[in-house]
Amino acid sequence: MKLIVIIIFFLIPNISIAKLKVVTTTTTLAEFVKQVGRDKVEVTSLTKPQEDPHFVEAKPSYMVKLRQADLLVAVGLELEVGWLSNVQRGAKNPKLLDKKFGFFTAGDFINAIEIPKGKVDRAQGDVHPFGNPHFHLSPVESQKVILALAKKLGELEPNSKTIFMANAEEFNKVLESQISKWQERVNKSKIRELISYHKSFNYFLNFFNITPIAYIEPKPGVPPTPKHIIQLIKLIKDKKIKCIFNESYFETTAAKRLQKVTQATLKVVPVEVETNYIDLIEKLVSAIEDCSKGVM
Ligand SMILES: [Zn+2]
Repeated sequence: MKLIVIIIFFLIPNISIAKLKVVTTTTTLAEFVKQVGRDKVEVTSLTKPQEDPHFVEAKPSYMVKLRQADLLVAVGLELEVGWLSNVQRGAKNPKLLDKKFGFFTAGDFINAIEIPKGKVDRAQGDVHPFGNPHFHLSPVESQKVILALAKKLGELEPNSKTIFMANAEEFNKVLESQISKWQERVNKSKIRELISYHKSFNYFLNFFNITPIAYIEPKPGVPPTPKHIIQLIKLIKDKKIKCIFNESYFETTAAKRLQKVTQATLKVVPVEVETNYIDLIEKLVSAIEDCSKGVM
């Protein structure tokens, strides 16, 4: 009897401080999980903010991280198609393969844009076949993901269900309070068209009424050719494009050339959370303002 009491005494503190172990594919998703789960979760992102999540080397250390995890949170819409399933299989943690249990893909909860019509083939480059997966740069799509994550964490940890939902609602409220300020600043900048390397910013640009007029890569996943660059130079001059966004994880040689021979401003900007989500969107909004003022 005494022994049982002692065992229980040592077990209880462990039970009460047991945190949900969550692994995400990107730092932005890790930030969302942290905001919703706070002290009840332990979160790790497989990639760093400077790493391109389309192409990641499936390292054995990722499998080790997944082996211990309760939940895997991915972007989905085939963003991680080239690498994540290998990591999932290698982890030997079957619950992380099933969306009914420990697998969550944020793309299931958003309104995807740019869903290709007809057959997708290799000649079109690395087209995202289920639509553009870079929805996390739209504050409203992110709000949907935050709520869905709260629901998922609540299923895994029913005792904290209401806390997760309250945290999610609080985060969404803070975000909401920023949105109109950001919109006002972008409107004031008068930037209405922009060139980026890849279609990474299209949800952000749609949200702020800016048209992604062209891309530095001629096709998704295909590096720029001299011919394509010449076409872009002509387009920038003809349309008086003021703003080029180059994702910090893509090479900048072509973008620098465009900046040099045109009047456009090049901003090398992050795509994923470096410190927190508000800061990420803030950086993009500031970069738009810089383009309007010609600040490099
Ligand atoms: Zn992409």
